[in-house]
Amino acid sequence: MPDRVLAVLTAPHTGSEAPEPFRLVDPDAPVLTVLDLGVTRGDGVFETMGVGAGRAQAVDAHLTRLTRSAAMLDLPAPDESAWRAATIAVAGRLAEHPEAFVKLVYTRGVEGTGTPTGWVLGSSSPDHTVARTEGIDVVVLDRGLRHDSASESPWLLQGAKTLSYAVNMAAMREARRRGADDVLFVSTDGILLEGPTSSILLKVGDRLLTPSTGLGILAGTTQAEAFRFARARGMTTSYEVLGRDALAEADALWFVSSVRNAAPVRSVDGVARAMDPAFTADLNAHLLARRD
Ligand code: PLP
Repeated sequence: MPDRVLAVLTAPHTGSEAPEPFRLVDPDAPVLTVLDLGVTRGDGVFETMGVGAGRAQAVDAHLTRLTRSAAMLDLPAPDESAWRAATIAVAGRLAEHPEAFVKLVYTRGVEGTGTPTGWVLGSSSPDHTVARTEGIDVVVLDRGLRHDSASESPWLLQGAKTLSYAVNMAAMREARRRGADDVLFVSTDGILLEGPTSSILLKVGDRLLTPSTGLGILAGTTQAEAFRFARARGMTTSYEVLGRDALAEADALWFVSSVRNAAPVRSVDGVARAMDPAFTADLNAHLLARRD
């Protein structure tokens, strides 16, 4: 059973017909050139989907977001049917792994050509059991942007899933330096945003809340699925502008993302938080069982 599977898109954007939408290649063989703008400038977008039993999860939601991110970067529109075909083919070859993921990468391509590059890499997932059951320690870090950065400074591409994740990874290293596992970003004016690779959920009584997507954060596919799950259990859900005081008022918090799914928050800035193991277990079982 392969541990990694790679498909290179032959026609990643619309209007570029090719007889085969992708070709499967050796994941250890060189594929990219050093002139690709995805490498030299982080100029591109990506998506990561969970894979269960060889089926990629929330494919439509991820492809819609890929297209939205590409539009925010003025990239040619991705050919969603080609990306879907490559995703299904790669995910299907990972069927024997209990948990896997696929990463779709779409770059501006080799400088000067105007032709985007695209590939789908599938891999087995690391074991996230500890984060899902014992919880994660989180530190609050200032993102350095106001809560209205998306509308006031759209060129900062807040809310697009770009390849420029060096800042997000630096924030994660800062969390580790502080003895924590993850980061909760807040705006300079004190509004809760998201993690570097996760959305946040707050449970207040029978309400499940998440920060509004208008705040320049990524519209999370896992958060959206968690909202559907909560509503099916009779809870109400809402997108809100939440200050730091909302953290103290919440009964429980989670970081949610594709692949890791729901990680309950065990502490914030060293202060222990109550967790909700029953809700967490049910939510993770639901997220793991997705097959669409
Ligand atoms: N926010 C950011 C900044 C992310 O990078 C991610 C995922 O990588 C998420 C939220 C969660 O998104 P999803 O649930 O669609 O994986």
